[in-house]
Amino acid sequence: MKKVSCNVFTDGKSECDFEITGETAEEMGSNGKPHCMEAHPELVEAWKNMPKEEAEKWYKEFEANFANLEDA
Ligand SMILES: [Zn+2]
Repeated sequence: MKKVSCNVFTDGKSECDFEITGETAEEMGSNGKPHCMEAHPELVEAWKNMPKEEAEKWYKEFEANFANLEDA
């Protein structure tokens, strides 16, 4: 299992140190979502309006970096 702090998860857009964990990048993404919806609704809104290519690029990078994250 890997862990990441919210501010890394959100690409530095939050100053939050909430810890998000997951066995896979996908699981981490879905685990981070409820926290972001509650704590950072403005970021969730920005993601919704993000162009598809940009969102895909972000997710690819997130997936590629997943193995380098700290073990939880
Ligand atoms: Zn947060």
